[in-house]
Amino acid sequence: MYAMASLWFESALLPQGWAREVRLVPRDGRIERVETRAAPAAGDERHRVALPGLGNVHSHAFQRGLAGLTERRGHDADSFWTWRELMYRFVERLDPEQLEALTALAFVEMLEAGFTQAGEFHYLHHDRDGSPFADPGELAGRVVAAAVATGIGLTILPTLYAHGGFGGAPPAPRQRRFINDPERFASIVEASRRAVQAVTFGQIGVAAHSLRAVTPEELAAVVRLADGGVIHLHIAEQLREVEECRLWCGASPVAWLLANAPVDERWCLVHATHATEGELHGIAARRAVVGLCPVTEANLGDGIFPAAAFLGAGGRIGFGSDSNVRVDAAEELRTLEYSQRLAYRARNVLAAPGTSTGRRLFEAALAGGRQALGYPGAAQTAGLTAGAPLDVVTLAADRPQLLGRSEDQLLDSWIFCGGRELIDCVWRAGVKVVSGGRHRDRTAVEARYAHALRALLA
Ligand code: ZN
Repeated sequence: MYAMASLWFESALLPQGWAREVRLVPRDGRIERVETRAAPAAGDERHRVALPGLGNVHSHAFQRGLAGLTERRGHDADSFWTWRELMYRFVERLDPEQLEALTALAFVEMLEAGFTQAGEFHYLHHDRDGSPFADPGELAGRVVAAAVATGIGLTILPTLYAHGGFGGAPPAPRQRRFINDPERFASIVEASRRAVQAVTFGQIGVAAHSLRAVTPEELAAVVRLADGGVIHLHIAEQLREVEECRLWCGASPVAWLLANAPVDERWCLVHATHATEGELHGIAARRAVVGLCPVTEANLGDGIFPAAAFLGAGGRIGFGSDSNVRVDAAEELRTLEYSQRLAYRARNVLAAPGTSTGRRLFEAALAGGRQALGYPGAAQTAGLTAGAPLDVVTLAADRPQLLGRSEDQLLDSWIFCGGRELIDCVWRAGVKVVSGGRHRDRTAVEARYAHALRALLA
């Protein structure tokens, strides 16, 4: 495909732990060989500290354009549901060109923030008046185009949204751009499957928006369309959703799902904020990933996910930037830990005794992210290893927050006293897309974004 220099690092986080003097030899976008205690060869690109790139398990990239515009209190109590009304109003105006421009900026920011693969939970399918596009993959194609242009890895998750509430309630007019029956949804999945082939190592999964938005029969249709790929859905994000589910079927959403769907390691349950202790054990036993979006969950006032109990039960977690109100991998990890500290009035809640919290969070995010985004085979959980995509992030180790740190202290300091500003370079599928913390095409992508946003907010 292309030739690139080998990469050499003073230290790197490998599956077996931190290693010194690490050389990554690339081939066709993957890591062909990992050498440790290796001298740099002439022509090697040299850096201080390397980490594997993280997957972003849950994003609605276009919502980046709405960030900061929903922080003014309304006349009644503000909630997730009033936020959703504002989001719908924004969506009503968005055209395909604008969707691509907003998505591209979100993807640039993800790469700069340490995410090398985006899981785009894609539920916007139709034209502004709700009529289907001639090409059912029109908007999925725009998401793919943004991924190709920015170089981010993509797991596209075309999403079935069929109803406006439990029990097959009709959708609201404002949901018209999302709505499909299983047959039309199948054509969108097919079109997305073809489109995502333009992304190096691109993946496709499927999603049901939530148990509010599909009937049991429609959920079964989504599962059939997965064809071995991953399956995502929003679940138990809001208490009102849990209550409405109980009214519909007498059980909570997670309990219903575990009893009625073939949940296994292909599944990603997004949020699961209000899962009970028993439900958490049930999810863990099925080896499904819970997709946590701590920054968005805090912004929307969802509640606190009982992460300590879930990890204690052997549960698997991944992290997503969801509404993209902020795009920062480190901040997602930090916010989860801080939510637990506030809830339990304790420190270092998620680490095992005697170990680093940053390391614990990072490794959970890496493994859960890759599982939920459908990385194939050994690459799924291993990070920097032979055969895996060459998705690498370096830290700016000479910055004040990282001075004098090594190994796990680097992770702890990046996550708890820094964030995206400490990312130096990023490679995705062997292509260097970020240098000095800045994406190679940021200027052009920002200009397109600005043009789109001016029209949207006019
Ligand atoms: Zn979401």
